Amino acid sequence: MKVTEYFEKANGQTLISFEVLPPLKGGGMQAIFDTLDPLVEFKPPFIDVTYHREEFIYKKRPSGYYEKTAIRKRPGTVGICASIMHRYGVDAVPHLICGGFTKEDTENVLIDLNFLNINNVLALRGDARKFDPKFIAEPDGHKYALGLVKQVCDMNNGKYLDANIENGEKTDFCIGVAGYPEKHFEAPNIDADLLQTKAKVDAGADYIVTQMFFDNQKYFDYVDKCRSIGINVPIVPGLKPLTKKYQLNSIPRLFFINFPDDLVKEALKANDSDAIKEIGIEWCIQQSKELKAKGVPCLHYYTMGDPATIRRIAEAVY
Ligand code: FAD
Repeated sequence: MKVTEYFEKANGQTLISFEVLPPLKGGGMQAIFDTLDPLVEFKPPFIDVTYHREEFIYKKRPSGYYEKTAIRKRPGTVGICASIMHRYGVDAVPHLICGGFTKEDTENVLIDLNFLNINNVLALRGDARKFDPKFIAEPDGHKYALGLVKQVCDMNNGKYLDANIENGEKTDFCIGVAGYPEKHFEAPNIDADLLQTKAKVDAGADYIVTQMFFDNQKYFDYVDKCRSIGINVPIVPGLKPLTKKYQLNSIPRLFFINFPDDLVKEALKANDSDAIKEIGIEWCIQQSKELKAKGVPCLHYYTMGDPATIRRIAEAVY
C-alpha cells in the first residue's frame, strides 16, 4: 500500500515509522532484523531504508603514489526493502538519490522496485561525496531531487527514457521528499528553500518527511509556512533523540540544525553518558507526545542502529 493511503486510512490517528541504515559492506541482514525485531510490535505500516552513494578512498600503491578509488560502503537498499517486506509484512520505502546515478540507472532501479511490488520511494538529491567541495551530479544524472520526482512521475505515466517505448508499463509509485524546518543549509533563506520544496510537490511528490529537529515550534512554524504557500501534502516529522554529549556539536555540524537552549543547559549539566541519554530520551518523548497530541500524520524515528532507545520512546508514546 502507499504511504499516503496509510495516512488516509489512519483517519487522524498518528502512525509510527522507522528509518534504518543498510549494514556496512560485509555485514548481513541480521543487523537490520536486530534493529527492527524490537520495534515491529508498534505496528509501523512502513519502514524507510536509506541509500548511501559511493565514497572516495585513497589507497597507497607500491610506487608510493595514492590511487583514488570509489567504493560504496553500504550497498543493498533494494534487497533490504524486499527482505523487510517479506519478513514483517510491512511496506518498505527505499530512499533514492540523484548522486551517483545516471537517469538510466535510476530508471533501472525503479523497474526493479516495480517488479518487486515496492511502490513507495523517498526521492532525494543526496549530499556531496566526502572530499568533494559540493554536490556533483553524474553527467547524465539529476542535479536536484526535483528531477528525480519528475522522472518517477513520468514512469507512473508510462513514459520511459527511451522514446521508442510506447505504451510502457505505468508504475504506481507514491513519492516522498525531504523538507527542512530549519532550512536546507545551501538555501539562501527559508522562503527560497520552501519554493524549491513546493516545486517538488507541484511536480508530483505526495508527502514530505522532515529533517530532525529538537524544537517542535520549528516544525509547527514550518507547516504553517508550507500551508501558506499552497503545500498541502502531509508533513511527517522526523525525530532522533540526543544520546551522547558530543552530539551537541556533531548534530548541528552534520545536519545544520540548532538545539534549544533548555535542552543544551540540561545536557551540559549531565555528568555521565547514562544521564545524557536519559535527558535525550525524555526530551524526545515530550516532543513526540506534543506532536501526537497535535495530530501529525506519523512520527518517523531515525533509529541510527539504536533500537533500545527508540523502543523506550515508542513505549512511552504509543
Ligand atoms: P533538493 O530538494 O534537491 O534541494 C537541495 C538544495 O538545492 C536545497 O538547498 C534547495 O533549496 C536547492 N534547490 C532545489 N532545487 C533547486 C533549483 N532548481 N535551483 C536552485 N536550487 C535548488 N541523503 C542520502 O544520501 N541518503 C539518504 O538516504 C538520505 N535520506 C534522507 C531522509 C530525510 C528525511 C532527509 C530530510 C534527508 C535525507 N538525506 C539523505 C539527506 C539529503 O540527501 C540532503 O539533505 C541533501 O543535501 C538534499 O537533499 P534534498 O532531496 O532535500 O535536495
